[in-house]
Amino acid sequence: MPNMDVVERVALDRSSKFTFSCNKDLSCWNLCCRDVDILLTPYDVLEMRTALGQSSGEFLQNNTKVIIDPKTKIPMVQIMLKPNERLCVFSKEEGCSIYQNRPLLCRTYPIGIAALRKKDDPNPEDEFFFFIREKFCKGFSQGKEFTVGDWLQDQNADYLLEKNKDWLEFILRRNVMGVEPFNEKEASLYFMAVYDLDKFRKFVFDTKFLDIFEISKERIEAMKTSDEELLKFGIDYLFFMFRIKKTLEPKKT
Ligand code: SF4
Ligand code: SF4
Repeated sequence: MPNMDVVERVALDRSSKFTFSCNKDLSCWNLCCRDVDILLTPYDVLEMRTALGQSSGEFLQNNTKVIIDPKTKIPMVQIMLKPNERLCVFSKEEGCSIYQNRPLLCRTYPIGIAALRKKDDPNPEDEFFFFIREKFCKGFSQGKEFTVGDWLQDQNADYLLEKNKDWLEFILRRNVMGVEPFNEKEASLYFMAVYDLDKFRKFVFDTKFLDIFEISKERIEAMKTSDEELLKFGIDYLFFMFRIKKTLEPKKT
């Protein structure tokens, strides 16, 4: 989450222009990876841990910490910092050790996302952005001109925004409903279904779970072999369990 002192309070859209360039000859190299609060989306966790060849439990334990939103009690996953240097655990002298699979917030930087278009919402006014202008960042004073839209494509951020849309819709719709904060059981269920997919896999396949819902054979097979399919199912399960959308059909007894 960006420090609010460096957030420029001007709403941008995809056509807003700015100049930016970043390279390791700059004196500010890696400063943007120090003392940062990088929240991870479910797809960030999936992509990063797959790239590192780690189980979800291993990745979450070794590289992240969980913080609880004080109002909604939703658990959020944040990248851990190295204890002494306060640098992101993935930061190396030569740059980000997980650059090809870096999380969404690192891809969009120095653009912050204030609001996103909800899934299937054709209205572009629902989406807006802002600049994060850290004093130390020399990137704004050089480089080529981008529009916000070009930047998001250039950094492959649009791809992750698209992948996270169902999850984001779940979060937005639950918050808009103004319901009670998550209790402990709900928070654990949510965390397992979107972040700790290896645990969720056991919950789905090693219990009587599949006797409860009508799920097509094709979907079950896809979930067995693909973490991405399992995550999509996990989000459908949350929509159903929190009574936001009837995404699943219970079996008739
Ligand atoms: S994931 Fe990479 S780009 Fe993001 S803060 Fe860590 S080192 Fe920097
Ligand atoms: S120019 Fe900005 S983004 Fe690039 S290394 Fe420097 S502080 Fe980080």
